Amino acid sequence: KFITIEGPDGAGKTTQAEKIVQYLKSKGKRVISTREPGGTALGEQLRKVLLDPEGSPVSNAEALIYAACRAQLLERMVIPALREGFTVVCDRFVDSSLAYQGWARGIGINRILQLNKWVIGSYWPDITILLDVDPAVSLGRLVGGRKDRLESEALEFHQKVREGYMKVREMFPDRIRIIDASQPADEVFRQIVAELEKAGVV
Ligand code: C5P
Ligand code: MG
Repeated sequence: KFITIEGPDGAGKTTQAEKIVQYLKSKGKRVISTREPGGTALGEQLRKVLLDPEGSPVSNAEALIYAACRAQLLERMVIPALREGFTVVCDRFVDSSLAYQGWARGIGINRILQLNKWVIGSYWPDITILLDVDPAVSLGRLVGGRKDRLESEALEFHQKVREGYMKVREMFPDRIRIIDASQPADEVFRQIVAELEKAGVV
């Protein structure tokens, strides 16, 4: 099974992804965890390009580099792992492109979707956990921590990202399960496990 975790910066995706991996392993599953942008050697190089505060790709170029990262991740990691029966947990995937580039950056969700249908083929996630939280709250969590290009964007940009995720969720109501990530991490995790069980991936 293929599980992806989505949400705005500071929503707790990385923390929850790690907890999900531990949980699946405790259930005896063979698990591979990865992230976007990144996950492969090429992907990690492209991540540096994408997040370079000194000037980074814009608009269609940005969208295409994210798509290239994803194509490599699928070929090198996700597809082989799924074929061998591993559960794959990915911190961000296609819905980030739809919300960030499609909606917040204004390229259009449908245009990004077209591009990604070609990249993803039949390997869409089985379930996507969307950690929803007001950016005014989630960005506060990042203070003192890492701050790269996107995290220093204006609050309005992150509000648009959140709005974008809501639109994407309406397009994929069966796949995308929304969870209120303003709750304590343990409660968020409890609800994630409930969704994974409901979806039959645990
Ligand atoms: O999830 P993570 O914090 O590692 O993401 C790195 C950065 O890339 C974030 O600041 C995020 O906002 C940005 N990003 C983006 N478009 C995507 C995926 C991530 O702008 N499609
Ligand atoms: Mg993260």
